[in-house]
Amino acid sequence: MIIAVDGPTASGKGTIAKALAAHYGLPFLDTGLLYRAVGFQVLQNDGDPDNPLDACKACDFPEAVLDDVSLRSEAVGGLASRVSVHPEVRAALNKRQVDFAHQPGGALLDGRDIGTVIAPDADAKLFVTADAVIRAERRHAEMIGRGEAMSFESILADIRARDERDIGRTNAPLKPAADALLLDTGDLTIGGAVQAAIALVEAKLHRS
Ligand code: C5P
Repeated sequence: MIIAVDGPTASGKGTIAKALAAHYGLPFLDTGLLYRAVGFQVLQNDGDPDNPLDACKACDFPEAVLDDVSLRSEAVGGLASRVSVHPEVRAALNKRQVDFAHQPGGALLDGRDIGTVIAPDADAKLFVTADAVIRAERRHAEMIGRGEAMSFESILADIRARDERDIGRTNAPLKPAADALLLDTGDLTIGGAVQAAIALVEAKLHRS
């Protein structure tokens, strides 16, 4: 069984994806981490994330980069969004994701184009959203919790810029697949969002 979870940053898709993977006992791939590794590696190479050649070269990142804690930072998230517009970068990361999705027994992947490009044949596709202001509030609270100083306004501006880039790119833009199940987590607690996600997937699996 393949489950695809897509959605914008800070929508709750990562938490929901991990919970669904545990619920169904599926191996899990956070595909954003691959784009983050490329963004991080561009910096290590002194390259320009907006230059397709530099971005492409960074796709050869050492595997250990995937464990670097700085990959989780807002700054690296922004770099990931810049390198991910290049079709060459998406092509270089495609096989790894397609192979992961189609391994025996299935898998759960989260990202932006899992239901549309990587696994259009997924058994269930979830598209997780929430208003940008709510997502910025969540990200702000998370950062305060980690002791990182960043104003709410600049987080909201970053989130809007990232949404615009992810939705507006020509290649594999962020959008729900035609058959995606939509889940707005704006009014939900984490537990409530996970329960709602499981209920949506269960209903879909029983219909199929
Ligand atoms: O999900 P995460 O915030 O880690 O993703 C970082 C960036 O990587 C996204 O803003 C997006 O531009 C890019 N990305 C992508 N396709 C994916 C996963 C992430 O373009 N499947």
